[in-house]
Amino acid sequence: MAITIVCKWLCANNFQAGFIMNEKTPRYVHEIDQGFGNIVEIKEVLCDCRSDFQHIQIFETAELGRMMMLDGIIQFTEFDEYTYQEMMVHPALMVHKNPEKVLIIGGGDGGVAREVARHKCVKQIDQCEIDGKVVELCRKYVPSMACGFDDPRMNLHIGDGLEFVRNACDEYDVIIVDSTDPIGPGEVLFGKEFYQSVHRALKADGVVASQSESIFLYPEIVQRLYGFTRELFAYNGYAFIAVPTYPAGSIGVCVACKSHPVDQPQRQLDKTLADELKYYNSDIHRGAFKLPSFAQRWFA
Ligand code: SAM
Repeated sequence: MAITIVCKWLCANNFQAGFIMNEKTPRYVHEIDQGFGNIVEIKEVLCDCRSDFQHIQIFETAELGRMMMLDGIIQFTEFDEYTYQEMMVHPALMVHKNPEKVLIIGGGDGGVAREVARHKCVKQIDQCEIDGKVVELCRKYVPSMACGFDDPRMNLHIGDGLEFVRNACDEYDVIIVDSTDPIGPGEVLFGKEFYQSVHRALKADGVVASQSESIFLYPEIVQRLYGFTRELFAYNGYAFIAVPTYPAGSIGVCVACKSHPVDQPQRQLDKTLADELKYYNSDIHRGAFKLPSFAQRWFA
């Protein structure tokens, strides 16, 4: 049904029939989520394979740089990935007074690691990504993101994030959960047991930031994750992120802390770092946690 709607819309708006997969390399790829979505014009399929966990596709697009899809879901485009990567990392690291040891769960494209590495106070970056094939292909085709893996402070583990965090206790200043959606391997990263393990793995003033879906498309997931963090942490919040190429043009990050509020930075952003960033700043930090009334009611 959804495809029919999209095809009719395409024809009515003079989209080329290339959208219909009757060409060797389709001219457009699409992502339909909750009945509507994105159509992206591509120039070349750089890789299209299946790992033990998911379908991995990386494209050279006509206008958006390189783009990766996992199981048909857009993970990033070079055009706007900075919005998501910066907001997954900098609010959490700026809420901590001196983040030295950081754990990243997921994040196989390297974008979150790249942003964590910008903070000179960080001494150790542990990362647990379940699919080594995602890392390998992003290193090969998207070095602008995978450069995060080259930082000397990086310890990359290939394995399940839930297993990894189960074995940690009172160890990390910040944990960032950069997972896919709650389907397939990512499902366990949206469960209560995982958040209990994250809470145990964090130090007394620890902070967690988790990819928490869009308030427009997945209210039940947002409320569930917010509920876990509110139950386990003294302070928590959901920050809105504008990401043009994600469904509904948005996603969010749940940030929670054991010891102090999350909606304002606890330290000054140094000028060098501020000049490098394209999305995050202290005003965005404070503003992102201000939500529309319908979402505020969920969290009252
Ligand atoms: N920015 C994307 C988004 O918002 O959907 C997510 C980026 S990243 C590509 C997501 C990563 O999570 C993938 O590389 C995937 O392999 C990884 N992942 C999924 N489930 C996992 C698990 N249980 N443990 C560790 N990594 C996992």
